[in-house]
This record gives sequence, C-alpha cells and structure tokens, in this order.
Amino acid sequence: MLDCELIIFDCDGVLVDTEPVTNRLLAETLTELGWPVTTEESIERFKGRDLHVIRAEAEAVVGRALPGLLDDYRARMFAAFESEPIAVIDGAHELLDVLDGAGTHARCVASNGPQNKMQASLASAGMLGRFDHEGEARIYSAYDIEVWKPEPDLFLHAAKRMGCAPKDTVVVEDSSSGVVAANRAGMRVIGLAGLTPAESLVEAGATHVISSMHELVRAVGG
Ligand SMILES: [Mg+2]
Repeated sequence: MLDCELIIFDCDGVLVDTEPVTNRLLAETLTELGWPVTTEESIERFKGRDLHVIRAEAEAVVGRALPGLLDDYRARMFAAFESEPIAVIDGAHELLDVLDGAGTHARCVASNGPQNKMQASLASAGMLGRFDHEGEARIYSAYDIEVWKPEPDLFLHAAKRMGCAPKDTVVVEDSSSGVVAANRAGMRVIGLAGLTPAESLVEAGATHVISSMHELVRAVGG
C-alpha cells in the first residue's frame, strides 16, 4: 500500500479528530442562520469540502447573502480548539513513529483548511512538530494557492514542493472530496473509512480502503 516516496496526509479526520467538533459548530452556525442542520447531516454533506461552496449552498437555502458565515464559524472553531483538546486519530502517532524508523518515506500534510486551523489543531493534538523538517513546516493549505479539493491542485502543489512525482506519491484521505482530488492528481489514494463509509470512498476512487491507521503501521512493518 505504501510503495511510494512521498505520503501526503489530509489533516482533519486523518491526523486529528476534529470532524465531530467542527461539524457540530458548523451545524449550530447554519441552524442559527436559518438552515436547520444536525451534526450528522453536516458530516455527511460537508466533510472535506470547500467552505466557500458550503456558504454558497447555505445562501441558496436561506435566500440571502451570508457574508459573516465563515468568520462566525471559524471564531467558534478556534475557541473550541483552545477549550477542548483535540484528539489524535488512533494509530497516527504510531504510523509516524514507524515511518521515522524506516526512513523510507517523505511526508507532508495537505488540507482544505487554512494554515492557522491546521497549526491550531495539530498543536492541540501534540502533532505539529512531527511535520517539521529542518525548520520548515511541511504543511500545505488550499488557501495558499486558492484552489480547494476536489480539484487536484493542492496535492500537485504539495508533491512539487516535496520534489516528488505524482506517480510516486500516496495520499491518505478520509473524505470523498479528497479521494477525488488525489485521483485527479494522478496519485494513489488510501481511504480511511470512519465518518465516511468505506463504500463511499471506494465509489470516489480510493485505491485501498482501511478502517484504522494501524493497518498502515503494519504495512510499513511496525
Ligand atoms: Mg479529512
């Protein structure tokens, strides 16, 4: 599964367990603005997607512009990251440990979220330093290039910065949107099933589907 030079990790749902809290807050925000949405509906409908597209959908539903939606939601999110420690996805630290030991794969993070969200959630989970390389944080945001998954640009940007060809890159993703983006980038993609069911990740084009990061730990030989 990991016969590659570079592994690109999605952030939310792959490294840090942010989706339950962020979708609860997004659902609360949308509900207050006039679109009643539950946390479960938010996960099913919005996980891994571009917030700008979500805002456009919300504006269509409520029939008016929602210029404050993103700022309102993000303010709640950062407050939550400070007050509720973010959990690490089970097996993620162990996988990074065996990758460190093997010394065979370069790695980085690529997410639709802004840099400050990734930094805050990875720091809250005690993971931020694991993507430093000689003083450089190997963390790439769609906001850096202003193109979001499911477009392939972010993964291509990350691989280029890492000096690896798409064919030598494997992406680990937990959302259909991210799986589609990796496929479009010409990369193999491992789907981590959980909040998004395995069959949806297969349908989106995942090369392999796993139900736990521990399966990757074993694949590296840990
Ligand atoms: Mg994700």
